[in-house]
Amino acid sequence: MKTMETVLLAEEQAVTLLSGYWADLTIPVSPDELAKALGIKVEYVALPSDESGKITMADEQSPVITINRNDTKNRQRFTCAHEIGHYIRNRELERSENSVDYRSTLAGIGIDSDEIFANQFAAALLMPAIEVKRVYDAGWDVDRLARHFVTSTLAMELRLKNLRLVR
Ligand SMILES: [Zn+2]
Repeated sequence: MKTMETVLLAEEQAVTLLSGYWADLTIPVSPDELAKALGIKVEYVALPSDESGKITMADEQSPVITINRNDTKNRQRFTCAHEIGHYIRNRELERSENSVDYRSTLAGIGIDSDEIFANQFAAALLMPAIEVKRVYDAGWDVDRLARHFVTSTLAMELRLKNLRLVR
């Protein structure tokens, strides 16, 4: 699948999940609550410092997302949303896989289509396009947007670029 198709699909799937389980679009979106709504257990444990999180789907009755409890809150939220992205994609493709995510894969520099999907999904889930456009049009700057959506300013900047609101 081409990168652009993957990105569009991820955006679409995030919107679908939000409309099903987060219909009033309360900001900030809680990836933990969305995971639980999908029947995924979320646990916070101390992982090696280069490891952000993982999803275990293959060996458990119910899937588990594990998040590095030593990471910052912003990072943990992104990791959780990213792992939900893997879950959605695997479910769609009828796969049952475990995956471990390192800081490098979450940095968005990879070319693996599952990682591109999960990163785009996470951004679209935590920073829903419709809400980003609304407050951006109201004149909010990046720092205020990042606080509103509870993301890093870097993730916020990237989202604004992807939505073509800034260059
Ligand atoms: Zn991943």
